[in-house]
Amino acid sequence: MINYSTDEIYKVLIDNVDSILIVSSKDDRYRAIKRTEGFARFIDAEGSYKDLIEKLLFHLSDSNDRITDTYQVFLPKMGEFKRKFSRQIPIEINNVKHVIQMLVYPIKDNEGDYIILLFEMGRSEVDRDNKKNSKVKTIEETYLFSMYVDLNRDVVASMNVKEISDDDLHYDVKYSEWRMMIVNAIWPEDQEMFLTMTDPGYIRTHLKPSKTMSFDCQMKNLEGNYIWVKLIFGRTDTIHENDFRFVFMVQNIHEDSLKLFNELKRFESLASHDALTGVFNHGRIETELGNAIEILNKENTPVSLMMFDIDYFKKINDTYGHAVGDDVLKTFVGRIREKLENCNIKIGRWGGEEFVCVCYDYDLETLRPLAEEIRQHIADNPFITIGSMTCSVGLASVNKDDTVKDAFIRLDKALYNAKNSGRNCTSL
Ligand code: GH3
Ligand code: MG
Ligand code: MG
Repeated sequence: MINYSTDEIYKVLIDNVDSILIVSSKDDRYRAIKRTEGFARFIDAEGSYKDLIEKLLFHLSDSNDRITDTYQVFLPKMGEFKRKFSRQIPIEINNVKHVIQMLVYPIKDNEGDYIILLFEMGRSEVDRDNKKNSKVKTIEETYLFSMYVDLNRDVVASMNVKEISDDDLHYDVKYSEWRMMIVNAIWPEDQEMFLTMTDPGYIRTHLKPSKTMSFDCQMKNLEGNYIWVKLIFGRTDTIHENDFRFVFMVQNIHEDSLKLFNELKRFESLASHDALTGVFNHGRIETELGNAIEILNKENTPVSLMMFDIDYFKKINDTYGHAVGDDVLKTFVGRIREKLENCNIKIGRWGGEEFVCVCYDYDLETLRPLAEEIRQHIADNPFITIGSMTCSVGLASVNKDDTVKDAFIRLDKALYNAKNSGRNCTSL
């Protein structure tokens, strides 16, 4: 006969739960109805609820645990939970690791009042959970939430918001309303893509039975920071045209994305820089001039070109070898760059021992003294191994309606003039 009274059931619970607390989050108070000896070490008979949560979760005097990002969400959200909340809390007392299972239930409709149940998990349960966790770790760590969508009925079911609860929450939200709500959490520039990809018509056309599709965007997390996420749609297998259900998952890919972007930046940098001297390569400095001409046509600020060519460089190679020649090139560029440090001037290797500078906000009159200063600096300071060396400099203005080619032809002529005038000089 199953015939127990409420009191008897209550007694079983009271006897078996390690700690029972009643909380009023609004008044910031709690009262312990029960604490076993172990819990009494860090839970007072009553006190401030906020202090309790902080102490319980993170600040045990003899614990090294500190608030992690995952748990931080708990504190400000605590008063807002309308549903059951469960969480395992790892703590350390006297160097012994314990895992406490915490269950939180809101009391009636009384907003902000909770009953908190705490159990200490036995060793074997902890070990089993750890084993399970390590297997699914990568998914567990990165997966933020998932839900089930029935496109035909326009409903979202069985939503599991991992950051708020380990349990499934059953919301009866319309899919069409849900996406218009969630779009507000998407990075503004990604919103258009989000609306396209989550559009029921788009999904119907592109998501075939048992197939997945996904896209990446930035989305606000519960702490209000934008993180990179992957939105994944996986349709159930079906042979019926009218059966359109899919799982929607959000995965945190923030760290991997940042790594990827750094890699891409590195490749982009490799593709646009000269390996020997580290300045822009030929293609990149040509692009720079193209951009400069566009800016000139739009804003009418002056742009000029400056080209350096080492005098008799072939002789240096022939006398001292290619390796010394390479070192000279590096030192040469280093010395030019020193002089350009505070100017809006981009430098690139045009080829061999020729370097081209795109000089923003310079006309020929203001550029000439700078060019002369650099030429003199090179001539005045001997290089290691080879001693003194000189260079010739060509200057050209960039005009409106110039093509990149026009401007470089003019620059090349200027340099030719400098060479013809006996080298170690600057020419227009
Ligand atoms: P000019 O005064 O007329 O400019 O004479 P030059 O010898 O400097 O000019 P030329 O164009 O005859 O020779 C350039 C030399 O630069 C030829 C080539 O061997 C050398 N060179 C080109 N690229 C490199 C490089 O990456 N490393 C080294 N060490 N030498 C290079
Ligand atoms: Mg040359
Ligand atoms: Mg030369």
